[in-house]
Amino acid sequence: MEDQVIIITGAAMGLGYAAAEVLASKGAKLALVDYNEEALKEAEEKLSSAYQTEILTVKADVSNENDVKNYVDATVEKFGKIDGLYNNAGIEGKQAGMTEYDLEVFKKVIDINLMGVYYGLRYVIPVMQKQKFGRIVNVASVGGIRGVLNQTPYVASKHAVSGMTKNAALEFGKDGILTNAIAPGAILTPMVAEAFKQVNPDDPKAAEAQYASRNPTRALGDPKDVGNLVTFLLSKENGYVSGQTIAIDGGESNMYGNAE
Ligand code: NAD
Repeated sequence: MEDQVIIITGAAMGLGYAAAEVLASKGAKLALVDYNEEALKEAEEKLSSAYQTEILTVKADVSNENDVKNYVDATVEKFGKIDGLYNNAGIEGKQAGMTEYDLEVFKKVIDINLMGVYYGLRYVIPVMQKQKFGRIVNVASVGGIRGVLNQTPYVASKHAVSGMTKNAALEFGKDGILTNAIAPGAILTPMVAEAFKQVNPDDPKAAEAQYASRNPTRALGDPKDVGNLVTFLLSKENGYVSGQTIAIDGGESNMYGNAE
């Protein structure tokens, strides 16, 4: 990834930060985007002390079109190009049944997970078209290929991410731009830890252990594993994978009924 310029949204923690570590360790130049300014600053400090690479940080809410335009402009201004976009920022919303779901939360999930990813594509792709090169990874979820009870807007938004990924691959393959999505299962990040708190407020660790026991690997995923997959998809080593939604879930999304 030497000298490759990669934008990561939702870079301050979780999957975004884990990918930033892998990419920085391989020499990529990073534009880190997040709306949590404090956490973003901490992330930059940790990365700068561990790896020798150039890092730009931009505070932005990906659901705000102007913020997205600004992080794209700031990246081009500093580095002169954009080789890869890790369109990762997203939220889960609240767990609730479909007909009782809080409408404000519903709209917020769609604004961030669907529109945020779309704005990223809208403003990054023209830069990549001029370069005749680009690699994009959008973050869907197992909830983008399966239903998940009590998470209707999340599931709707993540299916949309998978759909937009296919269209971007169709439309811009001729410009040297390969676009894929990933569908993580339960990877132990702050977002997933919060979900276990909602499932069992008295004992979130028990909810975590119960969830892990259903996975074929009997474990939750490690954010680093996702970072490695994303790094490959964003690299020149990926020469022909495009339009796919790749599950990274220990095989869980292939289960039907009980597995041994
Ligand atoms: P996380 O909550 O641990 O981290 C998300 C980061 O994104 C945070 O730093 C947060 O501040 C930032 N963010 C959220 N909304 C933003 C916005 N509007 N603008 C800018 N920054 C924003 O979450 P995570 O688990 O690392 O999840 C990252 C992505 O992976 C999400 O799209 C999520 O839906 C997806 N995902 C995660 C899992 C998992 O198991 N962790 C599984 C499937 C999909």
